[in-house]
Amino acid sequence: MKASSHASRGIRRLAVALAAGLVLGGLTGCGDRDSAALSHPESDGGRPRIVATTTMLADLVRTLAGEDFAVASLMAPGVDPHTYEMPARAIALIRGADAVIYNGHLLEGKIPDLLAPLASQGKHVLAVAESLPAESLIHPDGDFAGHADPHVWGDVRLWKSAIAPVADILKKLRPDRADAIAARAAAYAGELDALDAWIRQQIASLPEANRLIMTSHDAFGYFGRAYGIDVIGVQGISTATEAGLADIVGAVDLIRQRGVRAIFVESSVSRAVIERIARDAGVSVGGELYSDSTGPAGNPVTIGGETWDAGTYIGMMRHNVSVIVEALR
Ligand SMILES: [Zn+2]
Repeated sequence: MKASSHASRGIRRLAVALAAGLVLGGLTGCGDRDSAALSHPESDGGRPRIVATTTMLADLVRTLAGEDFAVASLMAPGVDPHTYEMPARAIALIRGADAVIYNGHLLEGKIPDLLAPLASQGKHVLAVAESLPAESLIHPDGDFAGHADPHVWGDVRLWKSAIAPVADILKKLRPDRADAIAARAAAYAGELDALDAWIRQQIASLPEANRLIMTSHDAFGYFGRAYGIDVIGVQGISTATEAGLADIVGAVDLIRQRGVRAIFVESSVSRAVIERIARDAGVSVGGELYSDSTGPAGNPVTIGGETWDAGTYIGMMRHNVSVIVEALR
């Protein structure tokens, strides 16, 4: 890992030390938006039902599932998984599912507790990030209770390795469609290879000294490790501990010390803290990144003449990289 994480670890310790201290208001997730994602296909036509927690996972599952499964996303775009509280109908959805696919490593607050009994009832339950090889994960020191950093989708190659365990579950539920599932998995792996290569090319176009960003929370650790960007997160790994005044002062100091050129708001975290830091440090906000959620489905992102759907993982990553590259040029 690069020097980045030292800075971010410093900030994280600060956040923990002051968790009980001054807290800024207005940082809660947007519960209203949860409901938009809960429309489980009524017409599932006897197809197996899969529930995925985050929008990134729902996109992965839908891509591999094609029309052979009914797939529902628990969280709507823009919902913060760290602070997500499940409405009663989400619990019903999970109980009625044949498989539940979640991220794990504490990304989704209390959801994993609810899933343990399902696994013992013979349903398929997969924690994607926990199924990846331990040596490929980032293990933050200190305060994360032995769990790895859950934001694994930031590294496209690592996310690609989530294809196989998801495809395995789908094949178990629909052995009659195993060939079609395998074909979709192979095609998607190719698309992710192309995405990974494009990101590398984009980052390579930046002067090395500029490759440093600051975001609301530590959602970009894997992204930074994979693509050589130093990342400072103001709030630590989870948004559940809100940023205090000392975090803001520490962040402003770091911006000055390290010459941070760009700081970013995140779509699933309140803008207030980042905007305050930007104001206090006299830098501008570089734009909005999709950190723990894709963008809204059907929202087009046009980059270099090509158009992507921000509601997909690939569109989300293309958007983020183009915003970062634009700000760091
Ligand atoms: Zn996060």
